Amino acid sequence: MAFGWIDEQADARRRAGLVRTLRPRPADSPLLDLASNDYLGLSRHPEVTEGAARAARTWGGGATGSRLVTGTTELHTELERELARFCGVEAALVFSSGYAANLAAVTALAPHGSLLVSDAGNHASLIDGCRLARATTQVVAHADLEAVRKALGTHEGPAVLVSDTVFSVDGDAAPLAALAEVCRERGAGLLVDDAHGLGVLGDGGRGGAHAAGLAGADDVVVTATLSKSLGSQGGVVLGPARVIDHLVNAARTFIFDTGLAPAAAGAALAALLRLRREPERARRARAVADDLHARLTAAGLEAVRPDAAVVSVRAPSADGAVRWAADCRAAGLVAGCFRPPSVPDGISRLRLTARADLTGAQIERAVRVIGETRP
Ligand code: PMP
Repeated sequence: MAFGWIDEQADARRRAGLVRTLRPRPADSPLLDLASNDYLGLSRHPEVTEGAARAARTWGGGATGSRLVTGTTELHTELERELARFCGVEAALVFSSGYAANLAAVTALAPHGSLLVSDAGNHASLIDGCRLARATTQVVAHADLEAVRKALGTHEGPAVLVSDTVFSVDGDAAPLAALAEVCRERGAGLLVDDAHGLGVLGDGGRGGAHAAGLAGADDVVVTATLSKSLGSQGGVVLGPARVIDHLVNAARTFIFDTGLAPAAAGAALAALLRLRREPERARRARAVADDLHARLTAAGLEAVRPDAAVVSVRAPSADGAVRWAADCRAAGLVAGCFRPPSVPDGISRLRLTARADLTGAQIERAVRVIGETRP
């Protein structure tokens, strides 16, 4: 039977306790949410929702075409100008998702014969970019500077080091300044995904690359999503104008994809302007993360020290993580659950996100529920 093998895979998944299901979220959920990536609590801010609504009224429900045909509105251009200005780079290019932005940046910056050096903890979209690229990829141990130096040292021709700025599972930050130095020693480019750093790290939330003093460097390219701190949807590549011009001409997920929906562009722009006027939101997200970590640790839980807004708690097993998250939900708390195949075997986690708008009472309640339901 066609697709019969799907049933075999489904059985195996069921036996291993790794089945995933979708759970629609009601608009007025009474649950305490520590799983969303709305780090700054901007997704439902009235200026952000109004930015989306106004953009849809002005430009329509969709971008109507690819960016090079009809899909570039004046709103897209304004958003790109403001993102570049905020992050301290020459130019920016927005995409329909962070995933598409990463595929674009990795594939377009790694021509045939080049080398991609990729951190083992990188996000799936960077991994997929490496798989699609016509380059050779060398995966190096997580946050291992020596391994990076060694990998770059053996290659003739163009090379790019690819890394998350903040890793999505454990929330630890890459040693960006040191990585940039190694890249410079070897004449390699540095491409970093700041999905979890933009809006949280750096002066007023200008991101991980900005915090590491790399903003505006001609050998550094930054990608980010508009769907976390900026409470919208979409992705962006930030960097030197010549890199951005190259992406416009060479990146397939830019050229062949319909432009970012105007509502998403309007929401992201409104969120960015709000963050610029309210830079303390970034500091607050980091303070909430530190507070959450301290309270979890005091309660005897094994939490990874956060470098940004992701706080990860070690779970005993994949099964244990699933049960823990389910028990939290039954007690009124939504926590993320990371387990294979999203993460390597043996690394299952309860993943919490520290939002800038969480109150002390909510943090206390979350820690109590997590402690009481621990497997
Ligand atoms: N990079 C990282 C590190 C991410 O966590 C995510 C989102 N899960 C993405 C890229 C993809 O971004 P988007 O959701 O906008 O496609």
